[in-house]
Amino acid sequence: MTKRIPTIHADRCHGCGDCVEVCHQYAIALVEQPFPRWKNLLGLPLKYKAALSYPQACTGCGHCVTICRHRAIQIEKIPVSNT
Ligand code: SF4
Ligand code: SF4
Repeated sequence: MTKRIPTIHADRCHGCGDCVEVCHQYAIALVEQPFPRWKNLLGLPLKYKAALSYPQACTGCGHCVTICRHRAIQIEKIPVSNT
């Protein structure tokens, strides 16, 4: 059996929060980066990145994938046990 789960690519994430807002399961959150490595177009550090903070709640609906303008999220299928 498999489960659909989003993978968030931090190098593409701009921290806009659109995926957080669209997720009806509250499965994604913006997480502060203690040592931001990435910069925005103005050269300012990107302090927040999206993360799948509550994967158990994710239904695999794909709304977060659709809304992300930066193509930072992909749905993967991961194996899960039936027990
Ligand atoms: S919608 Fe995309 S760019 Fe915006 S916070 Fe989510 S993953 Fe990052
Ligand atoms: S796939 Fe759906 S439920 Fe899962 S994190 Fe994205 S929007 Fe939320």
